[in-house]
Amino acid sequence: MRIILLGPPGAGKGTQSMRISEKYSIPQLSTGDMLRTAVAAMTPIGLRAKTIMEKGELVPDEVVVGIIAERIEEKDAKEGFILDGFPRTVAQAEALDAMLSEKGLKLDAVVELAVDEEALLARILNRRAEMEARGEAPRADDNEEVFRKRMAQYRAATAPVSGYYAESGRLKTVDGMKSIDEVTALLFTDLAAYA
Ligand code: AMP
Repeated sequence: MRIILLGPPGAGKGTQSMRISEKYSIPQLSTGDMLRTAVAAMTPIGLRAKTIMEKGELVPDEVVVGIIAERIEEKDAKEGFILDGFPRTVAQAEALDAMLSEKGLKLDAVVELAVDEEALLARILNRRAEMEARGEAPRADDNEEVFRKRMAQYRAATAPVSGYYAESGRLKTVDGMKSIDEVTALLFTDLAAYA
């Protein structure tokens, strides 16, 4: 099963992708996590991405498309995957379609978590507080100033991705304002058709 989870920062993509990954035994491919690993390891991509991510801007399309192209070739992704945080631009969505059709593969589901923007900042600040309470270093971009920039990027560059999939009849929407467990249940119901 090949799935994309869309939604603005703080919508719950990471949490829900993890659950989908466990239930369907497919890897969760988060470009944000992969980039944070590259930043920590100070790889050439990490060095390039670090300041962009700290500012809440988008890493160039060719960088993330390259990361995903390599990652979906790995053995554990052969039977499927869930993409979390990718595609974030229409160009990335087009590159993914081209990549998959070259291999004779297609997406099974594109699901968007619909959320109230007002609630998102509170969620982001809560994620920061929870990480700090666990003694973990919080994400450098989980603060109000960077959040506002990430939302602006989302509106300008990423919201059109939903339109891209809707135009071709591939978009489903789930109410992301319900509790974490309720959202998971809604997603599992939608995805059951493809299992
Ligand atoms: P995330 O963990 O998905 O919230 O991503 C954190 C940051 O990584 C974003 O604010 C971007 O700077 C960068 N990033 C992650 N995925 C992408 C992507 N598909 N395209 C461009 N930048 C990305």
